[in-house]
Amino acid sequence: MISIKKWGDRVKYSRQRELIREAVNQSGEHPTADAVYQKVRQKEPTISLATVYRNLNQLAENNMIRRVVVPGDSDHFDRAMEYHEHMICTRCGSVVDVWPEHPLFEQFQALPGICCTGYELVLYGLCSECADQKEQ
Ligand SMILES: [Zn+2]
Ligand SMILES: [Zn+2]
Repeated sequence: MISIKKWGDRVKYSRQRELIREAVNQSGEHPTADAVYQKVRQKEPTISLATVYRNLNQLAENNMIRRVVVPGDSDHFDRAMEYHEHMICTRCGSVVDVWPEHPLFEQFQALPGICCTGYELVLYGLCSECADQKEQ
């Protein structure tokens, strides 16, 4: 009995995790946990925001999605795992992908006298839409 219940739970959890992963993958932007929750809830009405958070964290820990830390705002999540950085648009708040030619971490790691093990970088500026509006 116990093993059947456990098995059922695991199926439910992995289905939810799949839905959550799908929601991040289908989003062209960098959704917050709340945006993912709103989307997943359409297919899985009983899911809780806490479950969405937990699964997003697990997916990020397993390097299946990327967490984008935005100071003063909720974390955003990103399906693109290729190396890139993020810029926050100071006008509309959107998270923009920035693709540096050389990985910045290699430069930090090469700094003498310290041992850099990780970093979070946030760039600020205007997204292309907001930059266009400013010119007009
Ligand atoms: Zn903008
Ligand atoms: Zn990104």
